[in-house]
Amino acid sequence: MEICSIVTLFFIQSFNHSLIDLLTMIRITHHRTNCIGCGYCHEVAPYRWHMNDKDGKSDLIGASGKKEIYTMVAADDEWEDNKEAAELCPVKIIRVEKA
Ligand code: SF4
Repeated sequence: MEICSIVTLFFIQSFNHSLIDLLTMIRITHHRTNCIGCGYCHEVAPYRWHMNDKDGKSDLIGASGKKEIYTMVAADDEWEDNKEAAELCPVKIIRVEKA
């Protein structure tokens, strides 16, 4: 096989993996009203959860919503951390599912 063909195959495979990553998304939902501000979600996924200085509850970074129910779609590589956050949450107000 020519070197040019090998390089082309490499780029096609890389592109396919990137495309699969992009197409595989997760949805995170936060029912903020019942948050007790324990900070576990922030500990395991600080890039996604922020502790709000004003009321001590957590905010789901990048989410939108109303009536204290926030949701967002994120890349699949956040699955493990946010699943752990959902499991650790003492009041079970975080839901993580495949989008
Ligand atoms: S783990 Fe649950 S209760 Fe604790 S700060 Fe996060 S959302 Fe709030």
